[in-house]
Amino acid sequence: MALISLKKILDLAAEHSAAIPAFNVNNLEQIQAICEAAQEMNAPIILQASSGARSYATIPFLKGLIQGALEKYPNLPICWHQDHGHTPEICFESIRAGFSSVMMDGSLLADGKTPSSFEHNVTVTSQVVSVAHALGVSVEGEIGCLGSLETGLAGDEDGTGAQNAHFSDLLTDPEMAYEFALKTHVDALAIAIGTSHGVSKFQKPPTEETLSLTRLSEIHQRLPNMHLVLHGASTVDRATVEKINQYGGAIPLTYGVPISALQKAITLGVRKINIDTDLRLAVTAAIREYFYQHPEVFDPRSYLKTTRIAMHKICCDRLIAFGAAGLAAHL
Ligand SMILES: [Zn+2]
Repeated sequence: MALISLKKILDLAAEHSAAIPAFNVNNLEQIQAICEAAQEMNAPIILQASSGARSYATIPFLKGLIQGALEKYPNLPICWHQDHGHTPEICFESIRAGFSSVMMDGSLLADGKTPSSFEHNVTVTSQVVSVAHALGVSVEGEIGCLGSLETGLAGDEDGTGAQNAHFSDLLTDPEMAYEFALKTHVDALAIAIGTSHGVSKFQKPPTEETLSLTRLSEIHQRLPNMHLVLHGASTVDRATVEKINQYGGAIPLTYGVPISALQKAITLGVRKINIDTDLRLAVTAAIREYFYQHPEVFDPRSYLKTTRIAMHKICCDRLIAFGAAGLAAHL
């Protein structure tokens, strides 16, 4: 099967009141773990490359890994998505490289830090949509700036993170979301309701004040047919963080987004859920534990294999929890 567009996958998710996890990928073990899980669960999958992944692995190597996945899993529906592009040129480069979906994040200026105007966002996003749609490539836009409602700060991850965002930017305005969708014709829309990138999402378990499902519901009511996207949606599993720290790590104990909140968000129109931190934590915990228990081993394949197992479990769990398991049969 060739790569498929984000729109096709998310239309299917909407029909089945489900969401598809979008996992960030940088290397071989991640792609193997994610695709193996999706294959087992008979689920479509979104593999996305952040700007950090694009500079770490570079597009030629990422492209090779995606090609490998398509050959190894010929029946697996895969969307290859470019995460957070801050200029149309970045998105066009990805389209030329073969991505089947791009995110034009015009909520920030080209520096990936300064909040932009609504007009700027509409202009750059529309430019990308007109080119992408002509080529069968989907476009995700963003309205509002991701950030913590507790602190007013946006975590920086892979070069993306608002600086000096107004508090009002941290909760997407439903009317602006409606107007943005109308003017740009994006296929999916990332919204801000209190989730943030990185490991430090909440200082205490999130409440309606810090993770506004009410605002999400208002956006969904205004845009009932739009595929909404939740960024910064890792759960930050406490046991995994504790395991990292038990074996010499120093990760602060914070809180992520509970699975129950993600499942509620799915009933409110969220169709794509981005997950990066949870896989990073799983890899780190697996390697730290392995090094401690097997100090004599120096074959990287031995400990990298354990990371694949750890990531595979998370991927299966999310595919089941989001209702994505079994959906590949419909594509
Ligand atoms: Zn993001």
